[in-house]
Amino acid sequence: MHRLTLAPERIALLGAHCDDIAIGAGATLLDLCRRHPGVRITALILSGGGTQREAEERSALAAFCPGADLAVEVHDFEDGRMPGQWAAVKAAVAAFRRAVEPDLVLAPHAGDAHQDHRLLAELTWQEFRAHLILGYEILKYEGDLPTVQAYWPVTAAVVEQKIELLHEHYPSQRQRTWFDPEAFRGLLRVRGVQCQAPYAEGFVTPKLTLGCR
Ligand SMILES: [Zn+2]
Repeated sequence: MHRLTLAPERIALLGAHCDDIAIGAGATLLDLCRRHPGVRITALILSGGGTQREAEERSALAAFCPGADLAVEVHDFEDGRMPGQWAAVKAAVAAFRRAVEPDLVLAPHAGDAHQDHRLLAELTWQEFRAHLILGYEILKYEGDLPTVQAYWPVTAAVVEQKIELLHEHYPSQRQRTWFDPEAFRGLLRVRGVQCQAPYAEGFVTPKLTLGCR
């Protein structure tokens, strides 16, 4: 397995709900931001605006993106009902797209069973036509874990920091059955096995354009 190295200067993050990005790509963000201080990160979150969850998300993303030049936008679309607000969600994603020109886009993947995640994945692919898009995975009841094509290896220390930060910054989610260190660590270890690393986050990437210099 070959290792392609990225040096992104501008990253776009898209999440349907507060905590999606941190759960799906938190370890990657911690690793990437340490290696690229000052990286420009712009985040769009579709729901939770004006609630406790927005405050959680803002503090969490600041912690998961240490040293980054971070901008966060949180909307208040209704959790679980975003497909019914298709036109407005599409307009929000399109406006976000016009405001950024990222080297790397992290978003949900199109095979996600949650309707809000799936909608955002589809809109991301509609709006970002010439970008590297990595679809993050979110472990949940539905059993929809994808076959991933891309891996971001991380150390055990980064894994433990991800787990600590998730519990520290999302108190509203701690009672959920899947929100526990073993679940997070277990999936990271499985993806690590698949890329010959101690731990990793996995990403779906249906399309890559390659070249050399
Ligand atoms: Zn979600």
